[in-house]
Parts: sequence; C-alpha cells; structure tokens
Amino acid sequence: MKYIDPLPVTCPGCAKTAPYAVASLLALRATCTFCSQNLEAVGREMRGAIAETSAFIGMAEVAIAIERELGVVVTDSLLETCAAPRDLVVKLAEGDAAVPLARLETVVCQKLAELLERNVKSEDLTMSWKSLFGHP
Ligand SMILES: [Zn+2]
Repeated sequence: MKYIDPLPVTCPGCAKTAPYAVASLLALRATCTFCSQNLEAVGREMRGAIAETSAFIGMAEVAIAIERELGVVVTDSLLETCAAPRDLVVKLAEGDAAVPLARLETVVCQKLAELLERNVKSEDLTMSWKSLFGHP
C-alpha cells in the first residue's frame, strides 16, 4: 500500500489542508503547518490501514497457495472467519477430509516463510494475520 507523497491532510484541529511528507506522518512527527497541532492521529490511522492491507494481501496469498498446491477452494466467506492461519488450516481440514491437516500446515508454513522472509513454525500459525503482516 502506497500513499501519495506528500499527502494532503486536513488538520483535525483547524480544518485546514496542506501536503505532508508520508514519512513524517508515519513517524508520528508531523505537525500542522497552520496551527502546529500534532498530526499523530492521522499517522496512526495510516499505520492501521497499512497493517490491515498487508494482512489482507498476506491472507490472500496464502489462500492462493493452498488452492494451487492442494486443489482446494478457499472461499472469501471462509477467509472472513479466519483471524489467523491456524483457523484456516483447521477449518479446511475439518471441511474436506481429503486434505490432511499436516499437509495444509506445511503448505501454509512454506508460503508464510516465503512472504515474511523468515522461518515459520507451526506455532506461528496461531498469530493473527495482522500481527504476522502488520509490522513492516
Ligand atoms: Zn491545524
């Protein structure tokens, strides 16, 4: 997810709009050009939106990997009920007996490791998508 940089922001204090560097907004260091109010709330909101988008993309990537490798269909409505990779693994294993849990786990761990560029163990699957992907 990318923001226009500099990003036009309307100050919550004085309601005037000015362009601000995305880096300073995200670092929570931006202050209003007109009234000097701290724009921290705007930066926090941006951080939250970035975390949510990253989590959503990560989840979609994992779902696609499962579909490709195991030939199972992962529906959007199923994904919506899974806050963590573990939920997805368990629900798919319960829903389709042809897919063994261990196999699902392996595919999910491999894909997560590839996306996060780090080692992913079975225990990591209980972490929420947001905590897995939310921190750049
Ligand atoms: Zn202001």
